[in-house]
Amino acid sequence: MLANFEYESKKLKRGYNNRTLHVNLSEMKISSKPVTERMKSTFTGGRGFNLWLLWNALPENKVTAWDEPENEICISSGPLGGIPIYPGSGKSIALSISPLTGIIVDSNVGGYFGPFLKYSGWDALEIQGKSKTEVIVFVDGDASKVQIDGAAHLPSETHLITEVLADKYGNGNPRSISVVSAGPGAENTLMGCLNFSWYDSTRHIHRHKQAGRGGIGTVLRNKKIKAVVAKHSRPILVESNGPADASLVKELGLAYNQELKSLDPKQNEMSIVGTTHLVNIMNSFDLLPVKNFRYGSDPKAERLSREVFRKKFHKGFDGCWFGCSLACSHGVKDFELETGPYKGQRVFVNGPEYETIAALGSNCGIFDANYVVEMNYYCDVYGLDTISVGTALAFAMECYEMGVINEAVTGGIDLRFGNKEVASEIIHQMAKGEGFGTLIGQGVKRMKHIFAEKYGADSTIMLDIGMESKGLEFSEYVTKESLAQQGGYGLALKGPQHDEAWLIFLDMVHNLMPSFEEKAENLHWFPMWRTWFSLNGLCKLPWNDVVPESNKKTKEPAKVLPHVETYANLFYAVTGKRLSIDEIILQSERVYNFQRIFNLRLGSGIRKYDTVPYRAVGPVTREEYNSHFEDYDRQLKDEVGYDPNKKSTEEKLAALRKFREANYEKLKDAVYKRRGWNSNGVPTLQKVKALGIDFPDVTKLLEKNL
Ligand code: SF4
Repeated sequence: MLANFEYESKKLKRGYNNRTLHVNLSEMKISSKPVTERMKSTFTGGRGFNLWLLWNALPENKVTAWDEPENEICISSGPLGGIPIYPGSGKSIALSISPLTGIIVDSNVGGYFGPFLKYSGWDALEIQGKSKTEVIVFVDGDASKVQIDGAAHLPSETHLITEVLADKYGNGNPRSISVVSAGPGAENTLMGCLNFSWYDSTRHIHRHKQAGRGGIGTVLRNKKIKAVVAKHSRPILVESNGPADASLVKELGLAYNQELKSLDPKQNEMSIVGTTHLVNIMNSFDLLPVKNFRYGSDPKAERLSREVFRKKFHKGFDGCWFGCSLACSHGVKDFELETGPYKGQRVFVNGPEYETIAALGSNCGIFDANYVVEMNYYCDVYGLDTISVGTALAFAMECYEMGVINEAVTGGIDLRFGNKEVASEIIHQMAKGEGFGTLIGQGVKRMKHIFAEKYGADSTIMLDIGMESKGLEFSEYVTKESLAQQGGYGLALKGPQHDEAWLIFLDMVHNLMPSFEEKAENLHWFPMWRTWFSLNGLCKLPWNDVVPESNKKTKEPAKVLPHVETYANLFYAVTGKRLSIDEIILQSERVYNFQRIFNLRLGSGIRKYDTVPYRAVGPVTREEYNSHFEDYDRQLKDEVGYDPNKKSTEEKLAALRKFREANYEKLKDAVYKRRGWNSNGVPTLQKVKALGIDFPDVTKLLEKNL
C-alpha cells in the first residue's frame, strides 16, 4: 500500500454525498473536498461536477496538455445515478483532456463503477498527477477507506485485470466489485478507452462497458494506473440514494420499466438485438458508412444485420445496471478466437453494438460478422475505442487504394478495403505499439499531416477524406444529406460523436426543419437535453429508443415529451426540486456553455475548430457524385440555380461544394446566434451572466477572446 485514507461513512441526502474524492498520484495523497450548494445549483452533478473539478485543478495562465500531471481523470455519477429500479440509471461519466483533441472529452458509460463510487460516499472522483510505478486506486465503500496500491504484478489486459482484482478485493463476492481499466492498446495509441466492469451473476462472469471516445484510457495508462476499483457490498435500495420522495421514485421506476417491457418488443427489440437493429435502418436510408464514408449503403450489409446478431447473441438478462429492463448490453458466448494472443480460446464477447459493427465492418468494407465480433473482443481487452480504430483504419485503407501510401509505408501490408486478415493484424499491432499499427493509433488528424508531409499526399484531399473534427474520429453515420447533422457533428463540443445531437431523420427523412433557424433551434434543444443525461448519471436510450404510444399525438414527437416529463418528475422525487422542462434545459445550458469556455481556455473553442471534412458535407470524388448523380443534379438545378446539363462531373462537384459549404457556414451563424454566442462561436458576457457562470476567471478569459 502506497497511501491510505479513511473517511466517515454518511448517508446520501437527496442524491448527493456533498463531497468529492481527490487522489494525487504525484504526491501519493488522498483527500476529500466539499460540494457546495452553488456547485450543485450550477453544475448539477456528473459531467458538470467533473468539469468544475478539472477547471479548478489546472494551473492558470497556461494551456495544459493531456499528458501533463495536472490533467485529471474525473469520474462521477449524478444525483439520479444508481437508482436500482429506474431504467438506465447506472451510468458513470468520465472526463479528461483528450490526447486526440487536446480539449475536454466526456464519455457516458455503463457498468457498476459510478453507482458503487456514489454509494461508497463520493459524488465524484478526480485523479491527478502521475505515479512513478504502476498503481491501483481502490475505493473501499465497505470499510470507508481509499488506498493506492502497487500494481507491478498485474497483467496488462482488461479482462485479466478485472478477474485478478475482483478476487483480490472481493472477498468471495465478485458482485461487490467494479473495475475501471484500459490495456496495452491504450498505452500504445492515443485512442485508448476505459473499460468499466460489472459482474453478470447469471453467467458468473465479469463484463465490461466502454467509455470509448477521446482516449481517456490513454490518459489512465499515462498516469501509470492499472485500475481504479470500487467496492460496495451492502444492498442498494431506492432509499440508499436519500430521495426526497422514495415512493414516487418507485412509482415512476416501475411504470417506466413496465412501459419499456411492453413496448420494446413491438418497437426496436433492443432487449433482444441491442442497437444492431440500426444496421438495417441506416443501410436502407443510405446512412451506414461504407468504405471511409464514401457511400451510405451496401447490399452486403445484410451480413451484419440484426438478424445475424439475433442468432449470435446469448440469451439472458443484459442490463448494464440493476433494473434496466431495456437490457440492451448483449454479448456472444463461447466465441472461438481465430487470431491474436488468445487464438483458440472460447470467450464471452461484450457486444458488438451498432457503432462497432459500422466502424470495424462496413466502413472498412468488411462484411463479416465473426470478424467484427473478434475485433470487438480484442479492442476491448486491449483498451481501444472501436469507433476511432475503425474510422482511422478506413481512412488509411482509402489512402492505400488511392496510392498515397504503399506497401513500403504499411510494412508490406496490403491495406485494401475488405482485407480482414490485414485489418486484424493492424489491430494487434496497435496493442503492441508495432509496425503500421503505431501510425493508425495516432488517429486520423495526425495521419493526415504525416501522409502529406512525409509521403507527398495532396493535403486538400487529406482534409476532405480524413473523417475527423477537432481531432476526434467520426462516429458512424453518413451526414452528406443532412445539414443539421453536419452541424450535429461539427458543432459538438468534444468532436463528432452522436451523443450530443442526432438529427438526421428529423432533417433528411422527415424534412421537419427546413430553415436555418429551425435547424439551429434543434441544435440548441437536443444537445442541451442530451447533456442532461450526463449531468444526472443516466442512459439516454430509454428516452427515445422506446416511445410511448401517446407520443405520436404530441406537438413535437422527436422530443418524446412524455418521457421528458417523467425525468423532470424523477428529478423532483430525488432532489425535492420541482423544475419545468425549460429549467431542465437551463441546467444543461450552464454546463454546456462552461465546457465551451473550457475548450477556449485549452486553446480551441472558436469558429475555425467547428469544421468538418468535406466528405461529411458532400461528394468528394467522381464515383461518389455518380453514385447519386440524379439527386445531386436535381439539387444543383432546383436549389443552386445551376444547370447541370452538359457540365463535367468536376464542374458539378465544384458548384455543389460551393453551395453546400456556404450553407454549413450559414448554419454555424444561426446556431451561434441561438446559443447566445458571438459570430466566432464564443459565449457572450451577457450569456454567461444570465447562466450564472460568470466566475471572475471565466469573465477574464472571455474578455480576452470577445
Ligand atoms: S438501455 Fe442498455 S446501455 Fe442503457 S442502461 Fe439499459 S442496458 Fe445499459
